[in-house]
Amino acid sequence: MPQIIDGKAISARIKEELKEKVSDMKAEGTQVTLAVIQVGNDPASSVYVGNKKKACEYIGIRSLAYELPEETGEDELLSLIEELNEREDVNGILVQLPLPVNIDEDKVIAAIRPDKDVDGFHPQSVGSLCIGQPGFVSCTPAGIIQLLKRSGIEIAGKECVVIGRSNIVGKPMALLMLRENATVTVAHSRTKNLKEVAKRADILIVAVGKPKMITREYVKEGAVVIDVGIHRDEHNKLCGDVDYEDVAEVCGWITPVPGGVGPMTIAMLMNNCVESVGPEAR
Ligand code: NAD
Repeated sequence: MPQIIDGKAISARIKEELKEKVSDMKAEGTQVTLAVIQVGNDPASSVYVGNKKKACEYIGIRSLAYELPEETGEDELLSLIEELNEREDVNGILVQLPLPVNIDEDKVIAAIRPDKDVDGFHPQSVGSLCIGQPGFVSCTPAGIIQLLKRSGIEIAGKECVVIGRSNIVGKPMALLMLRENATVTVAHSRTKNLKEVAKRADILIVAVGKPKMITREYVKEGAVVIDVGIHRDEHNKLCGDVDYEDVAEVCGWITPVPGGVGPMTIAMLMNNCVESVGPEAR
């Protein structure tokens, strides 16, 4: 049987480390503050925002909640971001996505000052990642790097295949693995012979958004398999993009769903918030 990569335990450790750091910072007079903006009341978004607030509370980060009505205009949202950009007591700004259809998400993301962009979605943050400069990194891919490193899995020189090329997971994931000196292939919906491509991977990272799509035919014996997907199966049980039971028969390491990648995303958001106070205050 494979070794389980325990995201729950690793994220708990990261949160403990951050809690200690934040308490030291407080003792020296520095308060970390995250502003969280939600527009409308999409139930899934409300759950995510609630979880972020709870994590802030646990670590000792002050969170400011802006719950705006569904009919909020783009200009109103942009001027709130402008105000938060200017406020010296606000370190990080997070706008919960998706936004209502009348608001241009790209415009909103671009309005957040890059040094407060704790989600790492701003074009400048993405560009910095691409050319190896410091900047915020999208939380889910950053969390996967921590899962690998803290499980003692070597990345340098390994064949890595990332399936999925979204802006928030697949693309930054590929760039991060490249930064860690893996040999990286990005596969997607138009990739030919996906099974053969995936089977080359020592480290296979799956972010396709298709429940249980990846079976053992995609996986090399002994490979590390990271499952980013989150879905409900036909019995209303949580499952990933990987058919866990089937793949566990052949792989060497695997992340479960739940308890793998999921808890890391929030832990890395908290890490970015702590980073957002700037090096001189940390
Ligand atoms: P997305 O829909 O934006 O992107 C999916 C990608 O998969 C696309 O690039 C597409 O080219 C590729 N793809 C689709 N079908 C394919 C196929 N048949 N073969 C090969 N490639 C295919 O999704 P996303 O935002 O990257 O998220 C992926 C999954 O990860 C979703 O299940 C999402 O819910 C989950 N997710 C989890 C977390 C977390 O914190 N654990 C965070 C973000 C996303």
